[in-house]
Amino acid sequence: MQAFAYARAAGVTEALAAARNADTAFLAGGTELLNWMRLGIAAPTRILDITRLAGFDAIETLPDGGLRFGALARLNDVALAPAVVERAPMLSQAILSAASPQIRNLATIGGNLLQKTRCGYFRAEEKLPCNKKWPGTGCAARDGLNDRHAIFGWSDTCVATQPSDPAVALAALDASVITARGAGGRRIPVTEFYRLPDADLAGDTVLEQGELITTIEIPGAAPRSTYIKVRERESYEFATASVAIALDLDAGRRIARARIALGSVALRPWRLVAAEEALAGLQPDSSAIAAAVETGFAEARPLAHNAYKITLGRNLVLRALRLASEMAP
Ligand SMILES: Cc1cc2nc3c(=O)[nH]c(=O)nc-3n(C[C@H](O)[C@H](O)[C@H](O)COP(=O)(O)OP(=O)(O)OC[C@H]3O[C@@H](n4cnc5c(N)ncnc54)[C@H](O)[C@@H]3O)c2cc1C
Ligand code: SF4
Repeated sequence: MQAFAYARAAGVTEALAAARNADTAFLAGGTELLNWMRLGIAAPTRILDITRLAGFDAIETLPDGGLRFGALARLNDVALAPAVVERAPMLSQAILSAASPQIRNLATIGGNLLQKTRCGYFRAEEKLPCNKKWPGTGCAARDGLNDRHAIFGWSDTCVATQPSDPAVALAALDASVITARGAGGRRIPVTEFYRLPDADLAGDTVLEQGELITTIEIPGAAPRSTYIKVRERESYEFATASVAIALDLDAGRRIARARIALGSVALRPWRLVAAEEALAGLQPDSSAIAAAVETGFAEARPLAHNAYKITLGRNLVLRALRLASEMAP
């Protein structure tokens, strides 16, 4: 690991000024950043510790039933907050399915959203063809081992997936990331936060150098919501695929609105917009549900080893729809 200078930011203005330098990285829980430095994925020469920024760990309720978290709120604190369990149970479930209790006690919700792909070629300690890590070297996963890779939104330059569990729930909840930066802060919907792979793979998200996530906001409550994660072992494992569903039923128990996001199928949480539209007006136990869900997979493009993710994703959505429809409003 290369040597670096360490400093602690006393305030947001100071943090933004210091992080304008491209060699600077913010340090939150450090559970991702320090691994990247060890694996040669990142090599900042200055680390700016933002963990003491006042108020950045707050967890608040909003008058419309929604929620607001500071970017430095610890994952376990968010997952176990009674307001989160009540208003957005799927976010609580998504967080508790991530990593280990020890990591969740340290890791922050802002840092979690910024984690990088778990693609084995990208994380390998030896130099393998990987456009994301070594621009212009090709993508070893495109025609190599790609069972864990994308079925949506990939390009020949990169077929990786984004591994964050909380991001999938936040995408289905229509949450936004709120930032501070020199040019003025902004509000970015989580559905538009991640960049799909194109010729330039340098940035995983739309954040600019030195842009600081301050808060994350969820509009309105989603008490009928659930998160299901499939993985190769029951704990301490990233998702093979996952689904987050928030369901609104009308007085006749028909689906008024379904919001569905799949995880580990693309380089961003993937909203099944066509399925959401096709489900509106149906009873959750209607025989037309399966066909409506199927429309969400029309644009799926499996690679050589991951067509199973279409079947898995479809079954996950059907199961989550049933579970969410049985929850109390
Ligand atoms: C063994 C292991 C298993 C894991 N399993 C899972 C899993 O199953 N599911 C899952 O979702 N995650 C999993 N994770 C990922 C884990 O959740 C992340 O490591 C963690 O959430 C990152 O948070 P952090 O606060 O430690 O981020 P850091 O490591 O401090 O930062 C990560 C990145 O975000 C930047 N950053 C941090 N905060 C801000 C901010 N406020 N504004 C701008 N930039 C910022 C940093 O500069 C850095 O680039 C796992 C991690 C490990 C090590
Ligand atoms: S999928 Fe992306 S991260 Fe993985 S080898 Fe290809 S370019 Fe690299």
